[in-house]
Amino acid sequence: MALKTMIFIDGSWIFHNKAEIVNAFHDPDFKINYQNIPQLVSKYLASVSEKEIDIVRTCFFGSIPINKPGFDAGPQVAFYDYLRKECHFETEIYEIDFKNQQGLSPQEKCVDIALSTSMLHYASLPSAIDVAVLLAGDFDYMPALRRVRAMGKRTLLAALRRLGNIYPTSQKLINSTDLFDFPHLFLEEHLDEIRLVKEKRYRKCLSCGVEELTDWGGPTFYCSECRDKHRETSEF
Ligand SMILES: [Zn+2]
Repeated sequence: MALKTMIFIDGSWIFHNKAEIVNAFHDPDFKINYQNIPQLVSKYLASVSEKEIDIVRTCFFGSIPINKPGFDAGPQVAFYDYLRKECHFETEIYEIDFKNQQGLSPQEKCVDIALSTSMLHYASLPSAIDVAVLLAGDFDYMPALRRVRAMGKRTLLAALRRLGNIYPTSQKLINSTDLFDFPHLFLEEHLDEIRLVKEKRYRKCLSCGVEELTDWGGPTFYCSECRDKHRETSEF
């Protein structure tokens, strides 16, 4: 029987370590192809467990600033949309209130609690999952992992071992001997499998029907001429 597996991603952890990934690999164009994460986990888990893997769900937990002076939330909103619509992730996004104050850096709330709660929830449902995969770096997840394992579920850590002088994953997590059932999946060994490769192809403009070569992967496409026109008219 296939191992029913759910992946729990701490989006804030990835977000805060993106710059380090780019630096460590001297690759300013490095972008993660989130669609490939379930596939990578599945392949890796199959190899270490010698079982078939059924990725039943990928859950992504993140945050978004609100009331932040000069901050355009557009790209982040679009990114979370992409995770839901294109990658079919389940997302839980929590607001960070900057209270319209310049220079305020409020603490992020809820993300780790939400992830832990969700992991425990699914682990407690009869035969919902066999394996919980944690893609995160914080030792704060330790109590939840303990409970998940106490319910007879197995756990896998997807981690980053070291980037230059930075250790993005808690060494306590990496070195723990009673929190995980499989050897860790070290993402830096699989960067090529999760790298976003932008492929150019011809796409038809949704407005005028003209085909144009583009690397834009979004669900809707407008040709450059129609985009320019839209920009001109939207200024009025
Ligand atoms: Zn057009």
